[in-house]
Amino acid sequence: MDLAAIQALAAPHFLDIFGAFHATEDDGCTPGTMVLLSPLEPGFWAHVTAEPEFLDGAPDGLDRWSTRIITTLATHTGGTPHFPFGGPPYAPFIRWAERTGRAWPSPVGMLVHETAGMMISIRGAILLPDRLDLPPPPPDSPCTTCAQPCLTACPVGALGPRPYDVPACHAHLDRAEGAECLTGGCLVRRACPVSQRFGRNPAQTAHHMRYFHK
Ligand code: SF4
Ligand code: SF4
Repeated sequence: MDLAAIQALAAPHFLDIFGAFHATEDDGCTPGTMVLLSPLEPGFWAHVTAEPEFLDGAPDGLDRWSTRIITTLATHTGGTPHFPFGGPPYAPFIRWAERTGRAWPSPVGMLVHETAGMMISIRGAILLPDRLDLPPPPPDSPCTTCAQPCLTACPVGALGPRPYDVPACHAHLDRAEGAECLTGGCLVRRACPVSQRFGRNPAQTAHHMRYFHK
């Protein structure tokens, strides 16, 4: 089993490899190769919303779908599945994302990924017992050569150079002026040029916003 084989197994489910790293006990798991999985774009949302977990009327369709698919992939690859939901306790997915070398803290604090930008939605991970060959990560975060529009995109200054003011964000979303964020997604995440190139369906972003602001 190698990364290319895992990618080939994940692609029919519109999942892609977010990144991978050689895990040690300091990472809160057993040693091995941790492979993080996230949406393959474009097309993820159209695919996943036609799956049984979105048609049965029960809550948490995305998490239930992720559990079914990634558990099956883990079985086929001889690994152990891990998920960022279902806690507490929660697995340290933000640390794991940074450990891949393909995601970095952005100027507004939240992570930015080399291809997803700020549209990060890690669906789970597979821990393989072997130490797989990994491609070298990019040398730098995209933020190092960016005009950093994320710093000024929030209309109420809830997310910017200072720590995230979550109550101010929710207050804006409660007002009519917040409709654009609710239906199209956080303007900060959308301002990122890497996010804009990623190709996520705005309907997925609206789905996450409904969970955030319910
Ligand atoms: S969702 Fe809207 S109000 Fe909240 S941080 Fe993003 S841009 Fe600001
Ligand atoms: S807008 Fe630029 S600085 Fe901000 S997260 Fe995206 S790449 Fe980084």
